[in-house]
Amino acid sequence: MHKRKTLTGILIMILFVMTACGHGNSSEPHGTDEAESMLASGKYEKKEKNAETTAAQSVSANEEMNVVSYTEENDEKSVAMYYPEFQQTVIDEQLNEFKTEKLDIFNELIKPGEAAKDFVPQLNMTFEENVLAENIYALQFVIDSYISADSSFTETEIIMVNTETDSVLAGESLLSSNLDSRKHLYNILLENMKSDSSIAPYLDEAKLKSRVYDEANDFSNVRFTNNNLKFKFEQGEIAADAAGKPAVEIPLKDILKAMPENITQLIDGEYIEPSETAEEKPEEEEPKPEPYEIRTLDKNDKMAALTFDDGPDNELTPEVLSLLEKYDARATFFLLGTKVNLFPEIVEQTIGAGHEVANHTWSHKDLTAISFNEITEEIVRTNDIIRETANVEPLLYRAPFGANTEAVDQYVPMTEVNWDIDTEDWLTYDPVQINQAVKNNISDGDIVLMHDVHDTTAASLGEMLQYLTDEGYQLVTVSEILYYKNEIRAE
Ligand SMILES: [Zn+2]
Repeated sequence: MHKRKTLTGILIMILFVMTACGHGNSSEPHGTDEAESMLASGKYEKKEKNAETTAAQSVSANEEMNVVSYTEENDEKSVAMYYPEFQQTVIDEQLNEFKTEKLDIFNELIKPGEAAKDFVPQLNMTFEENVLAENIYALQFVIDSYISADSSFTETEIIMVNTETDSVLAGESLLSSNLDSRKHLYNILLENMKSDSSIAPYLDEAKLKSRVYDEANDFSNVRFTNNNLKFKFEQGEIAADAAGKPAVEIPLKDILKAMPENITQLIDGEYIEPSETAEEKPEEEEPKPEPYEIRTLDKNDKMAALTFDDGPDNELTPEVLSLLEKYDARATFFLLGTKVNLFPEIVEQTIGAGHEVANHTWSHKDLTAISFNEITEEIVRTNDIIRETANVEPLLYRAPFGANTEAVDQYVPMTEVNWDIDTEDWLTYDPVQINQAVKNNISDGDIVLMHDVHDTTAASLGEMLQYLTDEGYQLVTVSEILYYKNEIRAE
């Protein structure tokens, strides 16, 4: 860890994208007409988990950073915010302020009378860290909020920090507006697009030029992906409509000339060449990732498959795992890539305990509302990080909100898994009702939907496992239930 010298002035950051997003026809997290009365009647005494903040273990190979999780869960709201902490005064204070700012906006929006009455408003914040140079991180935050059909939003924001100087970098936009910089940027975008067969035939060079040279354009939808900058354009913005929403990724080192000096000075010369660092490491013989191995079971025994979506969570997943172990039960966890990135050790723990892990996309987007390119990114990135983290090959995926179309399904080369029983744990937050849903509906070969991100779900699980065990159910993974119970499931 490189320790402090001077405190440079606080600059500020950069990119801000805000898009309205509808979560209409979904059957998973949000809202039904009955919800309000269910919430009113299901007066479960929740252990007050208000404003609880815990520091989790450090993530990735980066010993400087901890992940802080801030959660609030009650009848009025469900908040889960993850952000980093570097043990550095200025940076940590700014990141904490950033979190508070987002929370305040959300709290303002859900004031009595403002929020929809048919579901509990949710606020989620996750982040990815991109190492730009030694000590320089681009922290990319995704903030999702579901308040009502009209006021739900997704924001992406990037905050750059320098951990050597304990400072937050900002003040100017990431891409300079001076003529030389824009010229450089134009040439590099043009070169990349010309060599991209999905864009080249449709490219309108004049449109691209006027877009790039437009001083008012701050490229607010540029985002980091590893050591690249990804430029996304709207349909028709720089190419014919047939190109869809064109996107290109430019290696950061190629684009330094287009960035303001205060940023390039920090990065220049310190930029970590990915291929160089990769070559320094001796090639380790990693075993090839294998899918979950189906156990030898008697197909005439009663079986049920418990599934947990939206994790891993650093607190609740371990709780769920220890209950499953107590009952010798196996389960399937549909993971979000963003959370795998934050809590890789929890995924290793899950695999180590014999459970199956599967793909629930990178950032929980509605797959029916995004382009096929974006769908691929959501699915592929998640499979990649699961392979890297746990060396297993996921074969199953579940679409966020259960929102899917045949076109999407045909586009994703994995087995889609829905559920037979929705415990509605995301709606009732009530262990009594969660267990009732299982007891009233369970039959041989069923798949049960839950979420290991609610403390009320974890609180319901002991009783559920006891009940199912008493009823003679063997608790197996989804791959196992598909393998052994295909015939009754098809009926
Ligand atoms: Zn989900």
